[in-house]
Amino acid sequence: MTADLVRVPGAFGLGQVPARLQPDAVTTMVCGYCSTGCGLKVHLRDGEAVNLTPDPEHPVNLGMACPKGWEALAALEAADRATRPLLRNRVTGAVEPVSWPRAAAEFVARFKGIQERHGKHSIAFLSTGQMCTEEMALLGALFKFGMGGLHCDSNTRQCMATAHVAYKQSFGFDAPPFTYADFEESDCLVFVGANPCIAHPIMWQRVLRNRRQPAIIVLDPRRTETAVNATLHLPLAPKSDLTLLYGLANALIRRGAVKRDFVDAHTSGFDDFAKFVAEFTPERACAAAGLDRPDFDRCVELIATRERVSFWWTMGVNQGHESTRTAQALINLALMTGNIGRPGTGANSITGQCNAMGSRLYANVTSLFGGRDFAQAGHREEVAALLEIPAETILSAPSWAYDQIVDGIESGAIRGLWVIATNSSHSWIHQDRFNELAKKLEFLVVQDLYPTTETAQRADLVLPAAGWGEKEGTLINSERRIGLVKKVRRAPGEALSDFSIFRLIAEAWGCGGLFHEWRSPEAAFQILKRLSAGRPCDITGIRDYRHLDEEGGIQWPFAEGDQHSVISNQSAAPNEHCSLNTDYSAARERRLFADGQFFTPDRRARFLFDSPRPVAEPPSSEFPFVLLTGRGTSAQWHTNTRTGKSAVLRKLYPAECYAEIHPDDATRLGLVPGGKVQIRSRRAELVANAFVTPTVRPGQVFIPMHYDAVNRLTCASFDPHSRQPSYKHCAVALAPG
Ligand code: SF4
Repeated sequence: MTADLVRVPGAFGLGQVPARLQPDAVTTMVCGYCSTGCGLKVHLRDGEAVNLTPDPEHPVNLGMACPKGWEALAALEAADRATRPLLRNRVTGAVEPVSWPRAAAEFVARFKGIQERHGKHSIAFLSTGQMCTEEMALLGALFKFGMGGLHCDSNTRQCMATAHVAYKQSFGFDAPPFTYADFEESDCLVFVGANPCIAHPIMWQRVLRNRRQPAIIVLDPRRTETAVNATLHLPLAPKSDLTLLYGLANALIRRGAVKRDFVDAHTSGFDDFAKFVAEFTPERACAAAGLDRPDFDRCVELIATRERVSFWWTMGVNQGHESTRTAQALINLALMTGNIGRPGTGANSITGQCNAMGSRLYANVTSLFGGRDFAQAGHREEVAALLEIPAETILSAPSWAYDQIVDGIESGAIRGLWVIATNSSHSWIHQDRFNELAKKLEFLVVQDLYPTTETAQRADLVLPAAGWGEKEGTLINSERRIGLVKKVRRAPGEALSDFSIFRLIAEAWGCGGLFHEWRSPEAAFQILKRLSAGRPCDITGIRDYRHLDEEGGIQWPFAEGDQHSVISNQSAAPNEHCSLNTDYSAARERRLFADGQFFTPDRRARFLFDSPRPVAEPPSSEFPFVLLTGRGTSAQWHTNTRTGKSAVLRKLYPAECYAEIHPDDATRLGLVPGGKVQIRSRRAELVANAFVTPTVRPGQVFIPMHYDAVNRLTCASFDPHSRQPSYKHCAVALAPG
């Protein structure tokens, strides 16, 4: 970094307001990998980003970044970037570069042809939590209101569908209540199926700043990096979590740890819940989870006696066969102990992707814009009026979920598929089935940075997209903070921003007039503000992108007339449901439900519960091991599509697939550390390097999800409420490879 670089507060990137941007300068934006939403300083030379450093003034990361953030530009510099549209020659089968007009014409002709032959709803899209909110919103509007489509989903189904449904049912709206200050203000943090040390390392850094000497309880089958650092690790048996959480609830009730005043004033259904969990004795819970009673009792003791208990969960809960009720079991614990709406408390789902929250609120896929319901005529009329489109354009029928779209390909109901910035051929559960079915599609379009992803290589048409840093827009992080992404690089070749591609498709389709107001991402942001008015996620108080930039992001809700979000030491809540921190120095952090008023019709949070159900594929004599999957290192992201482009990141994780196996199992099976192990499920087999380690218990094997063959093994079972896939449990057999 040269000394002559100057910081330009509020500066935007290339092509936005170049007059204000010095050739050598520093600007700021949020990271585009995970949901933490770290602020990064972007160092520019001749107006182009040349380096990144963490932003010490950003309220999220306070000057820290994980390896992915430091290396975020590497993904843009990869040699295999898509630079021109590619169309598969129907005779030779080879892909050939074509112009954008030709690509758009082919897109329209092939998809319209499918609709004419098989019906309007025979085309679908699968999108992503990695795009900007404005792009997701335009895509959802284009597909549903312009192209006449219905069935669409996103890879957020794979990470956050459970949290979305759990909050919506319990709180009346998909509203994660917390702020990152709660990591620092809690005196007991309970992590369930979460490994923030490597999956959300900056959040873990916030935990390390906690000065309250907190107890840290980790519920996880594996002795993860976070479990190693915990006060108490409960290594519960895989998918025994729901029984264990009901057992904890029962023990807390018996102990008199219920905050009856709060429960009576602000919740419904507690008495039925208390009756239900009475059967979940400590003995039953410990037997199901394989836990020692003293550890169970210690957990109860800590939750009962600490003042500020926070419950945090992520994929270990969300990706389960009964995940919604498991997430709600955590919500129930927070409600019954009065641990919500106060500093250091909450039932807090940590999001996965950088913009899964944007997808949940504004993608117009599962929910109508602004968290509305497609089934409600009043909601459809509101949106139609706000968008100035005919009300009948908005269909009341729900879209199929990801798994139903895949089933639709099998049945022939879905004939054309548009995959945007996700890599289903690698990441979808029971991968071989997806890839076999993809052959049945009459037309597969992939829109991505790279034509080399496993999915793009199967495509009939590849649309080259600009990446994070090559376009502008907003992302919403785990604590509901809306952050800004700027254009600080030119996209290579003819690659276009996703927003521009959607506008191009709209024009080619002949419905561009519907979207005349969606001129730019910032114009789209103003539309989203309008759509949010009066909703729990109201953001009408955010003026524009500059406002977001100046504040280091703003958490929703932030309605017109709300107080400036950086004012500290205010006792009055600036929003009906939302409080400023009063005891945190950088009070740019706000949490929900300080007033105990939820978003249900009666303003009460609901206790929701069901009996635990068996897993889809228990271990058997032929397949005696349970396969667990999860994140490998903080240097890897999902299918490694981007992180694999960085030479620095590649040095931080093993190049070849490895499997964690307990020493007792290794000895019994004749497996040696570093030797090959064959892992076989009912669907497929793979060979990995054996990592012999007591991080897993006997009878379990763990493989990081980033390696391309892992989902050949996984079993396609789904939570019935959220339809989220259960990636965390299937039966496998091991043998020397
Ligand atoms: Fe980016 Fe997440 Fe790493 Fe922060 S923790 S730098 S948001 S990948």
